Amino acid sequence: MTGYEQTGAANPAAGRRFRAFTAKHLDALADRAGLGPAERLAVRAVATVLPFRTNSYVVDRLIDWDAAPDDPIYRLVFPQPDMLPEPDIRRLADLLAGGAPESTLRAAAHDVRIRLNPHPAGQLALNIPDLDDEPVPGVQRKYPETVLLFPKQGQTCHAYCTYCFRWAQFVDEPDMKMATDDMGRVTAYLRSHPEVSSVLITGGDPMIMGADVLRRYVEPLLDPRLDHIESIRIGSKSLSYWPQRFVTDPDADDTLSVFERVAQSGRVLAFMAHFSHPRELEPPLVAEAVRRIRASGAVIRTQAPLIRSINDDPAVWSAMWRSQSRMGMVPYYMFVERDTGPQGYFAVPLARGYEIYRDAYRSVSGLCRTVRGPSMSATPGKLCIDGVVDVAGEKVFALHMIQARDPELVGKPFFARFDPQAIWLSDLQPAFSSRFPFEPDPEELPGLWAPALFEPAR
Ligand code: SF4
Repeated sequence: MTGYEQTGAANPAAGRRFRAFTAKHLDALADRAGLGPAERLAVRAVATVLPFRTNSYVVDRLIDWDAAPDDPIYRLVFPQPDMLPEPDIRRLADLLAGGAPESTLRAAAHDVRIRLNPHPAGQLALNIPDLDDEPVPGVQRKYPETVLLFPKQGQTCHAYCTYCFRWAQFVDEPDMKMATDDMGRVTAYLRSHPEVSSVLITGGDPMIMGADVLRRYVEPLLDPRLDHIESIRIGSKSLSYWPQRFVTDPDADDTLSVFERVAQSGRVLAFMAHFSHPRELEPPLVAEAVRRIRASGAVIRTQAPLIRSINDDPAVWSAMWRSQSRMGMVPYYMFVERDTGPQGYFAVPLARGYEIYRDAYRSVSGLCRTVRGPSMSATPGKLCIDGVVDVAGEKVFALHMIQARDPELVGKPFFARFDPQAIWLSDLQPAFSSRFPFEPDPEELPGLWAPALFEPAR
């Protein structure tokens, strides 16, 4: 149990105590959605591989149970009976129905997980930095100016999204997890890298941590010796899944005082809010939480992946961006579903994703056009689909790199052959060239990034 949950449990006077629902509640909740016994068994089979967790606010306030199981918020948190390959589901369902021992189930689930690319975009192979020739666990560095920090107590969420690309953080597989509680080592690393200007605290969801624990990770970053850190970002879905965190929870004010400290230190606190559907913005509690976060001096930027059956509709995105802008948030990213977990189930083809993005983008005012996308967070960097165009008689995707391991490539336009079925970078072929700009020149290996940029400053 996290410190945060303990705090909530000890203060029922808050009146909106956090209550989690886990796999043991899944059968009863799927029954409420009208699923028959075979579908419920398949849902439980999926939940042996991928994590399931939701809470009383999502269940009572966000899901439209009359529309379940097709309701988008239901689909956002509840495993679907066909989310994984059919032979895997059948095997796991047979084991569950036959009362297989826990160890057998765990081994079968592990077999499926390692086929689901648990660490996409080179997370473990390429992104863990070194300090004094030793790795700095719980830290990821893909770009010269940004460091990702995974606080140990922040590696759960108020609810889990079915499409989550960080699913490996939440399953019973210690070797798959990234986390640290050694801020001494993190700050030592940052001191030796004055080129880092931004730290993204991520998870899981860092806002699962109580104010005191959050402070233990944020305050060391405000050390005057780290004045090259200009911004601290917090990636969170708490405004969707538990807005009480900033309004009625016992430590809501303390939490906001941590945010205030960041602003007082002369840095930007950027709250990177994950919203998947406009319904998440409707409860008045969300507007109040947004108002209070903004009053702390933080700026809220919004982002989400484009997901089949949850938000693959331009009207959904334009409604989201308009509401967010009206509430004082800044629309920031539309992502492409990443190449991990149940990608095949949730992915929207890149060509369709671009149409959805453009239709939504052209229907909103300039204030919402701060949004970027559709963007793929892939191994070489963040690649944006700029459009589908005819060039010299050939239909191609136009792309550019929003971010890149090799900073020389940022902003560089390039082309890929049009493929209406492509869902990820690995499905694309270069057009008008023998290779993509981020691919190594066979004459100049390795070429994927510029390693010198990641050497400690002398
Ligand atoms: S809130 Fe974020 S980290 Fe948590 S399950 Fe959803 S996508 Fe994953």
